Amino acid sequence: MISRRVTTALCLLLAAPRAAQAQQPDIATAYRAVADSLIRGATADSSAYRRLGRLVDTFGHRLSGSASLEAAIDWILDLMKADGLENVRGEPVMVPRWVRGAESAELVKPRVARLAMLGLGGSVGTPKGGITAQVLVVSSFEELGQRAAEAKGKIVLFDAPFTEYEATRRIRTDGPSAAARAGAVACLIRSVASGSIRSPHTGATLYDSTVARIPAAALSVEDAMMLHRFQDRGEPVVVRLRMGARTLSDTPSRNVVAELVGREQPDEVVVVGGHIDSWDVGQGAMDDGGGSVAAWEAVRLMRRLGLRPRRTVRVVLWTNEENGGRGARAYREGQADRVAKHVLAIESDNGVFNPKGYVLAGSDSAAAVVQQVAGLLRSINATGVQRVNESPAADITLLAEAGVAAMELDVEGSRYFWYHHTDGDTLDKLDPGELARCVAAIAVMAYVVADLPDALPHGTTTN
Ligand SMILES: [Zn+2]
Repeated sequence: MISRRVTTALCLLLAAPRAAQAQQPDIATAYRAVADSLIRGATADSSAYRRLGRLVDTFGHRLSGSASLEAAIDWILDLMKADGLENVRGEPVMVPRWVRGAESAELVKPRVARLAMLGLGGSVGTPKGGITAQVLVVSSFEELGQRAAEAKGKIVLFDAPFTEYEATRRIRTDGPSAAARAGAVACLIRSVASGSIRSPHTGATLYDSTVARIPAAALSVEDAMMLHRFQDRGEPVVVRLRMGARTLSDTPSRNVVAELVGREQPDEVVVVGGHIDSWDVGQGAMDDGGGSVAAWEAVRLMRRLGLRPRRTVRVVLWTNEENGGRGARAYREGQADRVAKHVLAIESDNGVFNPKGYVLAGSDSAAAVVQQVAGLLRSINATGVQRVNESPAADITLLAEAGVAAMELDVEGSRYFWYHHTDGDTLDKLDPGELARCVAAIAVMAYVVADLPDALPHGTTTN
């Protein structure tokens, strides 16, 4: 009896998504022509690249709390209105304000030399005269644990080779507090970079509130490896670190929001976006000016082609992704119970390279639909749909946790961590054609999902 009832329930569960899908038109047939016109429109010229160039050349970096970020947001809002986008607005968000100040790292022994460094975001500064101390080089948290007795009073340098981003960046976020726990007076890390021409990479560090906050900075890969070689040869290494970093009080910023209002179900929303803030180095062209402009251009393109999908497509350029995530939180809180009306959230924050397709956190039934839509991207080789269990991008995590299908544009990103969070993150690292194909991939996915007769189902990978 019991097993029969369970079996029946399972059948109903399995049948439900199938029935829902059966009501969808054959996506390839219904949307081929419009998808091709979006792809043609996106790839016909370099307008996305030119617009990104104007943004990053005019305003430069866009660190949270900076005047350049707010000036860039004003410019974008004006241009979005001129584009004819609807409900264009800056939604207020209070963001942290970390200021780098003057900084340097100098090798004192075994020879005197300037080291290529960048303080880590959120770090405290050093006393005025700097911190001069012997360096203990370790390769991992495990090695620091084994040599903790040697760390007291020293500068600990983590010389950890890059494996993949999420694993390697733990050294940046957690390393300084681990070093402080062992009694270190400052912490250096080898830049989180898959390739280097002696360029230091910044990024956020996170202090553990139970230990002292010590100054923390990244050295270039080359300099970290050199200090390690000195130590291996038994030559004591002494470094002088000077950092004027400080955290000021929170300051107002905004999420940028604009819409193409849906023709039939305007309260149901497909969100596309990137983060408009950046680190205070380079131009934040790759991270994430390019992703932001790609999402914006995708919606502008729909407007330009006279397309108005059944549901609303909303561009959201979140503020403060890099050092706080306050924009994503404010957006989620501002939507409150309207989150249930979000049918899909797409973020592009993996750099701007040839698109390969999408990474999706969502239900099996959502994946089946998304796979068909991605099939419309064959002419630009972006048909891949990779499934993941957790949100693929930071600013859409809270939406994913509320059950909204969450996707990140998947790109050929093998060079991304050469430029990420460095002075080299400038417009010239992007290719106009690759950016145009990112616009095409976002426009087709967002438009078709927003236009389908049935809303993309909510739910996680396991249901
Ligand atoms: Zn980013």
